[in-house]
Amino acid sequence: MPDFDVIVVGSGFGGAVLSCRLAAAGQRVLVLERGRRWHTGNFPRAPDDPWLWDVRNPVARHGWFDFRVFPNMSVVQGAGVGGGSLVYANITVDAKPDTFERGFPPEIRFGTLAPHYAEVGRMLGVRPVPAEQIPPRTRLLREAAQNAGYGHRFRQLDLAVSFSEHWRDDLPDAYSAAQSRPHVNEFGVQQGTCVHLGNCDIGCDVNARNTLDLNYLAAAQRDGAEIRPLHVVRRVHPVAGGYEVYVDEIAGAALRPHVLTAAIVALSAGSLGSTEILLRSRAYGSLPNVSDRLGRGWSSNGDFLTPAFHFFRDVRPTRGPTITAAIDLLDGEFQGKGIFVEDGGLPDVGRAFLERFVNQPHDDPRAMEVIASILPLLGNANVFRNVMPWFAQARDAADGQLRLDGQHLALDWDVTASQPTIDAVASLHRRLAFLTQGVPLTPVTWTAGHDLVTPHPLGGCNMGTSAQDGVVNHKGAVFNCPGLYVADGAIVPKALGLNPSKTIAALAEHIAAEMVADLGR
Ligand SMILES: Cc1cc2nc3c(=O)[nH]c(=O)nc-3n(C[C@H](O)[C@H](O)[C@H](O)COP(=O)(O)OP(=O)(O)OC[C@H]3O[C@@H](n4cnc5c(N)ncnc54)[C@H](O)[C@@H]3O)c2cc1C
Ligand code: SF4
Repeated sequence: MPDFDVIVVGSGFGGAVLSCRLAAAGQRVLVLERGRRWHTGNFPRAPDDPWLWDVRNPVARHGWFDFRVFPNMSVVQGAGVGGGSLVYANITVDAKPDTFERGFPPEIRFGTLAPHYAEVGRMLGVRPVPAEQIPPRTRLLREAAQNAGYGHRFRQLDLAVSFSEHWRDDLPDAYSAAQSRPHVNEFGVQQGTCVHLGNCDIGCDVNARNTLDLNYLAAAQRDGAEIRPLHVVRRVHPVAGGYEVYVDEIAGAALRPHVLTAAIVALSAGSLGSTEILLRSRAYGSLPNVSDRLGRGWSSNGDFLTPAFHFFRDVRPTRGPTITAAIDLLDGEFQGKGIFVEDGGLPDVGRAFLERFVNQPHDDPRAMEVIASILPLLGNANVFRNVMPWFAQARDAADGQLRLDGQHLALDWDVTASQPTIDAVASLHRRLAFLTQGVPLTPVTWTAGHDLVTPHPLGGCNMGTSAQDGVVNHKGAVFNCPGLYVADGAIVPKALGLNPSKTIAALAEHIAAEMVADLGR
């Protein structure tokens, strides 16, 4: 008998949903998560805190952000119980219905996901920023939309954040934890309400963000699921009645290897993580029949950021939830490209980090390019108040390829097919900034180096109709590998062009419902 009915690898938007639903269905579930458990007492704050995850040396560095640098593309992800929800900007938005008309298996249409989107929204307690609490950035974005003739395309977005109707920025000590209202959420976890500290991406000091560890994963544990942090899964191998899972536990100063077994293994280690585990398992000869589409069709989701100085306005990027609203141009209204523009914020410590980074000597020419592009942001704290980080996502060409280079994951990313889209985003940012008296600084990393950074990696184990056009089917089942599933951003077969976590969670709800139905049969 295997050790567990189901082993779920990773605890982000795919893994949290899956473990919750499978535990509720009576399955013996184990969640293996590479990162640690984070809480208000141990979020990184000081320069020497554990900020980084080092994929080559996780014993030495198993911190908050996993930052991978590939040629012309860097990827940033979270590491910990709750996955990307720990570091994300809380934006919880449905993909556009037309997204599913091409590129997805026929079973996945907007109508298939609609009830799952609704359930994800309920579980994450989403809502927009209350009208009386809208930060200056939201107003700037709305004004830019109106000035550009896109007023009807502006909308506030749902956030997975607990707000109190009583908070106002003119309260005494408005931005202090004392103004946060403690409450116990429906999963029995103590939370607070948002006091606009602006630290969303580095952990909320008052626990106002409805991260996955506080809802889906809390429910999974209540129903008997076990979560083991600091367990790095390397590969899987099929055996009679299921799979062996090869895992390294980060145990003090060493990695301790284990082998665990389960009837079903669900990979939810994210676009990079799940693809890497399948690639490595195939390299070991364990999954010879996995589709040769593995690793292909990777997308950066067209992410792009343009900082702009708005000298005559108090933008205050370090106050309020990190993102609050969007201008929806996904129908191709601007230069025929699908674009979703958002306001952006930065934690205050972000500035301290930029300063530290700039003050260190760097031999790497790419690091020097980055430094050149951020130097203007560091004039002084008052100037920083006038900076608007204009964000956007777009529908890029989704033609990257993940592969193994020896033991390590590599990404082949040729920008050629996506360049017109990214240029359109940069041009739209400039227009919106100019229309609101801003001075945009298109990053030199793009203009000189065509280097991009994405927090939204998608694909690698793409959904398809057969092993000829995909790695998994619409149920997340890996073609030709019974009992092996992928449920996370790795299965999304194209750029969504907007924040992807709600779609990943809705797909995981769909996969979990199908798995539970199949187990019942
Ligand atoms: C700074 C930032 C802001 C963002 N803001 C938003 C936003 O506002 N809205 C939005 O929709 N999206 C946002 N995103 C993107 C969002 O976080 C991701 O799209 C989402 O988390 C992906 O879900 P996932 O389940 O595919 O993977 P993840 O959530 O990344 O979960 C994968 C999990 O697997 C673990 N793991 C990886 N490899 C292994 C291994 N070998 N063994 C064991 N465990 C492993 C990881 O530690 C992680 O916990 C943001 C991302 C970043 C970085
Ligand atoms: S703005 Fe601050 S208080 Fe509000 S959710 Fe983000 S980190 Fe928490």
